Amino acid sequence: MKECIVCEEEKKEGMYICSSFVCKECEQEMVNTEPEESKYKEFVKKLRKIRKPSVFS
Ligand SMILES: [Zn+2]
Repeated sequence: MKECIVCEEEKKEGMYICSSFVCKECEQEMVNTEPEESKYKEFVKKLRKIRKPSVFS
């Protein structure tokens, strides 16, 4: 079990973005979210907290 950096819940399935874990649900949500949506900006904000530069910058 890994802690997702987006929803901060422990999940089994997911992927790594810059060595940080993002669960399957959040990843799907991210993929399905339009850049104009505020939710997407929230994701980007969370990803920017990661030590390494985010892939979304
Ligand atoms: Zn999540």
